[in-house]
Amino acid sequence: MPVETDLKATDLMAMEEQFGAHNYHPLDVVIRSASGAWVTDENGRRYLDFLSAYSAVNQGHCHPAIFRALVEQAQRVTLTSRAFRNDQLPLLLRHLHQLTGYDRALPMNSGAEAVETALKAARKWGETVKRIAPGQTQIIACANNFHGRTIAVVGLSTEPQYRSGFGPFPDGLCTVPFGDAAALRQAITPQTAAFLVEPIQGEAGVIVPPEGYLRQVAAICRENNVLLIVDEIQSGLGRTGKLFAYMHEGIQPDVVIVGKALSGGFYPVSAVLSSTEVLGVFQPGDHGSTFGGNPLACAVARAALRVIVDERLAERSAELGAYALSRLKALRSSRIVEVRGRGLWLAIELNQPARPVCEALSARGVLCKETHERVIRIAPPLVISREDLDWGLEQIETVLREGAAGKEAAPEVTGVAVLSC
Ligand SMILES: *Cc1c(COP(=O)(O)O)cnc(C)c1O
Repeated sequence: MPVETDLKATDLMAMEEQFGAHNYHPLDVVIRSASGAWVTDENGRRYLDFLSAYSAVNQGHCHPAIFRALVEQAQRVTLTSRAFRNDQLPLLLRHLHQLTGYDRALPMNSGAEAVETALKAARKWGETVKRIAPGQTQIIACANNFHGRTIAVVGLSTEPQYRSGFGPFPDGLCTVPFGDAAALRQAITPQTAAFLVEPIQGEAGVIVPPEGYLRQVAAICRENNVLLIVDEIQSGLGRTGKLFAYMHEGIQPDVVIVGKALSGGFYPVSAVLSSTEVLGVFQPGDHGSTFGGNPLACAVARAALRVIVDERLAERSAELGAYALSRLKALRSSRIVEVRGRGLWLAIELNQPARPVCEALSARGVLCKETHERVIRIAPPLVISREDLDWGLEQIETVLREGAAGKEAAPEVTGVAVLSC
């Protein structure tokens, strides 16, 4: 067996394929180190990161201030469980309150767990506050949503691949078209506890809803005593040019779900933010997580939030994003169907598969990942310099103009599971 330092990228990839489950189809770049907007592979080759781990590294890779917080806390205490108190959790809870205005927070680890937590809170709020008959609460989400991969959460998905083979799913979940406030109004019944929505749909291809949509759904939810839950796991913490994407429409959702950049990529940290009325439904023993709210996570999250504010990352995202959008909109290519986005969260929809384009970009030193077959998502770390952004956009322009990559016909658009209310 070779010594580990002798392993080549090809050996590592073969090892991963042999011993791992094949639940991902990654680009064949083996990253060994990273800093800011750049990652370096096994051979010392540098790539500009245009994905940011799905917006978990908005602060840039290995941010020194977050690193310092991680190391300092790891030297003191990392995990107490919530059986005991620790000296970091109160500081994170107060920090989240001061930053967002929400009364209370419930910390978890992965995004999907935080979504589950919000759904549990909504159901129990539905039964105990709204007084829906036990076991009858209904939760409405949007077609083409992405909220994670647990069984309840994929039970809300309309993507056949995410559901196929994983049923049966919980009852009381249904979807309405995204961007259609009238459809939500029609779907609400006296049993509806909550409406769960991404302010901008990320995995669906950075779909920005029509202007006014969030204001309309907020009003509809208020009129019907239905909780408005926004999933800001990918759209939040600066990505769209504001701290949260819901702020573009000046609304105040009842529940906000955060994750990903809440730790700047160092550690899984997520949270549900809401009112005393909603999070107050949880009694001791109702819900929990061994790692949720641990001192290491809390120290890292506070540092990650400080970086977002101190380095004005939301403002940077707004400025650089507007510039990048206008530049990409000026790009003429027969392969482009649409360019869209908000802040440094952009998408180029093609009339052909995006994977070969992402492979061509990788060969030129830019890492992007296709989403939904024909969409290239562009989401660099928000600390990216204007020069690096320019260089990355140039590579995209060159690849799309060349027309070299990917001559295949567009794939059939896959079906949508019907989950209507
Ligand atoms: C990534 C994501 C999730 C799931 O987060 P995990 O940490 O992968 O469980 C949920 N909602 C949205 C909008 C996301 O982008």
